[in-house]
Amino acid sequence: MAERTTAFTVDTTRLQGVAEQPLFLAASRVAERMGVRAFAIGGYVRDLLLGRPCKDIDIVCEGDGIAYAEAVAKELNAGRVHVFKNFGTAMFTLRQAQGSDELQVEFVGARKESYQRNSRKPEVAPGTLRDDQERRDFTINALAISLNEADRGALVDPFNGVHDLERGIIRTPLDPDITFSDDPLRMMRAIRFATQLGYFIDAPTFEAIQRNAERLDIISAERIHTELNKIIGAPVPSIGFKLLLNCGLLVRFFPEMVELLGAEEKFGIGHKDNFYHTIQVLDNVAMQSDDLWLRWAAVLHDIAKPRTKRFEQGRGWTFHGHEDKGARMVPGIFRRMKLPLDEQMRFVKKLVALHLRPIALTKEEVTDSAVRRLLFDAGDDIDALMILCKADITSKNEARKKRYLANYELVLEKLKEVEEKDRVRNFQPPITGEDIMAAFNIPPCKAIGDIKTVIKDAILDGRIHNDRTAAWPLMVEEGKKLGLQVVAGMEEPGHG
Ligand code: ATP
Ligand code: MG
Repeated sequence: MAERTTAFTVDTTRLQGVAEQPLFLAASRVAERMGVRAFAIGGYVRDLLLGRPCKDIDIVCEGDGIAYAEAVAKELNAGRVHVFKNFGTAMFTLRQAQGSDELQVEFVGARKESYQRNSRKPEVAPGTLRDDQERRDFTINALAISLNEADRGALVDPFNGVHDLERGIIRTPLDPDITFSDDPLRMMRAIRFATQLGYFIDAPTFEAIQRNAERLDIISAERIHTELNKIIGAPVPSIGFKLLLNCGLLVRFFPEMVELLGAEEKFGIGHKDNFYHTIQVLDNVAMQSDDLWLRWAAVLHDIAKPRTKRFEQGRGWTFHGHEDKGARMVPGIFRRMKLPLDEQMRFVKKLVALHLRPIALTKEEVTDSAVRRLLFDAGDDIDALMILCKADITSKNEARKKRYLANYELVLEKLKEVEEKDRVRNFQPPITGEDIMAAFNIPPCKAIGDIKTVIKDAILDGRIHNDRTAAWPLMVEEGKKLGLQVVAGMEEPGHG
């Protein structure tokens, strides 16, 4: 497998200085007193060497991790220690220098683990640092820094993790079949790290994922979506989706997406491959926005294409209604993946449903009323929708792409123009239900909704202005049609 070409050398000399910070000095003193060996380990060390912002610190000791955590907290006068007896871990929060963030420090006793076939829950026994490093997922995540007086700041790297950081390689410390079979979530993590860091997955490691893919079925939907969301949140998420597809993981938890793959041909007429189109749209959105849910809308915008695909004589391939059917598929997919079902889901659903609407506005003769309708339906999500639509232009034909982009600019202009004039983006009815009840002296009933709809449509169609003075006579007139009479003294607007 190809290696990353950018020359990158990990500078381990910095570790000496890092190990002299107050937390590590205290950890060192306490370890000496208790006669245990202690190390900073895992993601913290990796990110330190990569120069990525430091989040939380994990410290492992060869001994009782909880007792050690409590002693270090005392040495530092740190706050409360939170103990998780079941996991054998303890943590406290460290207030750093003024102005900087709080740091979570987590402690654990070094351990060896042995796994049962049907669960991620291992049998745990105390072990050495080496045992603990072996049970970690990847060589780059198994790096440790000594916190012991004798060699404080020394890197402990039994699996050549630094070399893999420099080459940009994801590789398991042990036989990958064992690592993945023990905890199948690690397969998702491999792809997540490859995507976040732009690394290659070493061939034997990748092949082991292919062999063990179906073991993912014992992992909970929550844990899978946590990794998937990190992939979607990465700078170039398509890397992760291609890997997920090719190693056989994607089909385990997201079969609808795999169905997008492939381009059928009939009578010499083909259609584009909607899987690769979708992940390109996702990359395009990712360049414009970090919003996870907007990125999810990109993932799902064409999800119903396979289910609406037809070959029509004279027209070729069509996907009529894929936006509505796709929107209707969103709740089921979110529910299965245990993603949030409230506001975020509704947003994704709405964007999928509306994703073709701006395109329909590119025609020269488009009316203001069509523009107003879109503003009304999209509301405050219009900007997100326009990002999605622009990202949806993936034509390889440069001339066509240019034309589409120009059309898109035109739509943006029309939207702006109409919104400035008519303010329907956050449409508030100029006449409320209470107004109508008071005007006709009627209790709540269906007529109120009907009158409101007539007024709304008249405004969106541009037949009346979006204000009370224009809407009032229409209300009176509509009431009349329904046999309603305005109460004396309420003939004019201004009773609001
Ligand atoms: P990030 O915090 O950026 O998501 P991380 O590698 O720090 O990435 P954490 O979940 O914080 O991930 O885990 C910290 C460390 O614990 C890892 O670096 C790794 O050494 C170990 N680890 C976490 N999850 C697993 C796992 N499923 N199998 C083996 N080791 C793991
Ligand atoms: Mg971490």
